[in-house]
Amino acid sequence: MTYQSFIKNMQDKAYENGKEESAVILILEAVTKLETNFLYMKMNEEIDDKTISDFNKIFDIYLFENKPVQYLIGYSTFYGYDFKVNENVLIPRFETEELVENVLYRYDKHFKGQKVDVCDLACGSGCIGVALSLEEPNMNVIASDISNEALEVAKYNNDNLGAKVKFLQGDMLVPLQGYKFDIFVSNPPYIPNDELVDPLVKDNEPNIALFGGSDGMKFYDIILKGVKPLLKEKAIIAFEHGYDKKEEMLALAKKYFPNSKAEVLKDLEGKDRMTFIYVGDFKW
Ligand code: GLN
Repeated sequence: MTYQSFIKNMQDKAYENGKEESAVILILEAVTKLETNFLYMKMNEEIDDKTISDFNKIFDIYLFENKPVQYLIGYSTFYGYDFKVNENVLIPRFETEELVENVLYRYDKHFKGQKVDVCDLACGSGCIGVALSLEEPNMNVIASDISNEALEVAKYNNDNLGAKVKFLQGDMLVPLQGYKFDIFVSNPPYIPNDELVDPLVKDNEPNIALFGGSDGMKFYDIILKGVKPLLKEKAIIAFEHGYDKKEEMLALAKKYFPNSKAEVLKDLEGKDRMTFIYVGDFKW
């Protein structure tokens, strides 16, 4: 059987079982250790028995055990880098790549060529801070999380990918006292506590990284209330948040930073997904 027919058969099987067809390519990449374009170059070649049996070991669990494919293969690709993930960290989402991209774009616009101190609060797997550190060597990144288990994964990713992030453990702003940042980024837990969440997410990903209080706004309030002393005179705050929180985010920004400009950005799906707050003297 060719790779192409095998993939088609397995995608059909995923679909029939109510699972994501995209998992097939992810698992096949993992077992062949081939990147997508190299895999596609093999489409008309015969697939060997060893690859099929390695594939099936993972695919059977994926089909029948309610486990995210990224935990089964042990990594997730984010901003072009493979990040180790396990049940102690949230699996990086596409939207969060857009947060990184927007932070890099605004760095270029407002700080280009300058060394800047950057914070990634509630870093989880470290994907935001590590990607920023790799993409922009002028960023000196400090990342923090309350979970020691998450920090272990984040440190592994930092070392494995050759980034230069420094990590701190502690609750929200507590471990960051005494530092001053030019750019303060966070994708905190933001799902409202009583929101219905897909069991694949809720039963596997760390709930501490998902839920953000009764309205999903708890952590933005804690951060914005206390972050002023941790900012340099001119600083950008960048958040990812729930798609229906535009007005709430703008209201919070106004409450704690009444003289600052705030803007809400849409993700590629057209959802209000990020808020950027510009504290101090910015030229537009
Ligand atoms: N975007 C994630 C989800 O919908 C939640 C991430 C978060 O709470 N920071 O599953």
